[in-house]
Amino acid sequence: MATQPGTAKRTHTITLIPGDGIGPEVSGAVVEILEAAGAATGVAFDWHRFAAGAEAFEQTGHYIPQDLYDSIEENRLALKGPVTTPIGGGFSSINVTLRQKFELFANFRPVKNLPGLQTRYPGLDLIIVRENMEDLYAGLEHVVVPGVVQALKIITEKGSTRIAKFAFDYARKHDRKKIHSIHKANIMKLSDGLFLSCCRKVREGFPEIEYHEHIVDNTCMQLVMNPFQYDILLTENLYGDILSDLCSAFVGGLGLVPGANLGTECAIFEAVHGSAPDIAGKDMANPTALLQSAVLMLHHINESETAERVQTGLEQVYREGKTLTKDVGGKAGTKAFAQAVLQAMESPVAVPA
Ligand code: ATP
Repeated sequence: MATQPGTAKRTHTITLIPGDGIGPEVSGAVVEILEAAGAATGVAFDWHRFAAGAEAFEQTGHYIPQDLYDSIEENRLALKGPVTTPIGGGFSSINVTLRQKFELFANFRPVKNLPGLQTRYPGLDLIIVRENMEDLYAGLEHVVVPGVVQALKIITEKGSTRIAKFAFDYARKHDRKKIHSIHKANIMKLSDGLFLSCCRKVREGFPEIEYHEHIVDNTCMQLVMNPFQYDILLTENLYGDILSDLCSAFVGGLGLVPGANLGTECAIFEAVHGSAPDIAGKDMANPTALLQSAVLMLHHINESETAERVQTGLEQVYREGKTLTKDVGGKAGTKAFAQAVLQAMESPVAVPA
């Protein structure tokens, strides 16, 4: 039974980075929905808000202020909107820096259809498990001589083994049947070869899980032909980034797919999408991806009742299909969509069997 508002039993302190571009709009919607769901289920949130990126630089002279690092260190939990990464010169990616700093080695991205939304592949349910700290994202580039630049792809036994272990542990715990390691070891024999050999070694401890290896370019074709052949895609950092955007298109686009950056100490939850400057400030952004990231966060902190309340409200809005944002074929703005989710949480409709 729902708890009376104002009778919160538990309070969670969470670092909130609204982000830039569409970040403030989607995170505003998500906070409002979480507050309402929490009020009904006896959960309160104490949000510690911080700017990051250009806005933080203007205020503090740092792209990631020390206070923000301290807050994540203390709370061990953050919900993060997108933060623009300057292209070319300048500060390295804020997202990558945070993942490195807090050793968030696993990037977990479930790609699942929402009920009622017309997509090319109804019923799709796959997961991308992406190594989050190594590969070309190590940011090690230098000019060898003018006109020649070298970028270093770092793959380690430690990093590959722990991401493989994460994927197999997840599969066992959640009864997922199949893992594909995605690689390009035919060309990058040493680096991707090491990644594969670590996956194979970890795999030995999980004989009940079907295991395959696919080359990344073939995987792109296979995914478009028949994504249902995949269950969990286990992959390095860059391939994981590219496959995430590709797979998001199967379920309605970047506005929908959530993500979690997980380490042994901390977790940062954020959508797959970027700051989408083309639609920023226009009340057009779809907050679903960040909202579903927040649902992952609620499960992570064992607030499953609140998570279910949000997810059920969200799915009801999609099932009804009347108040959807433009990216998924609707006419509603971010704010109207958020109001529809709030209303759906208040007045749930039984799902037809
Ligand atoms: P990054 O490299 O920072 O991850 P990206 O290159 O993936 O970013 P995005 O900023 O995510 O690019 O935007 C890609 C396209 O998807 C844009 O046209 C944008 O408008 C659209 N898009 C992204 N997120 C959303 C959203 N939440 N709602 C609606 N459209 C979105």
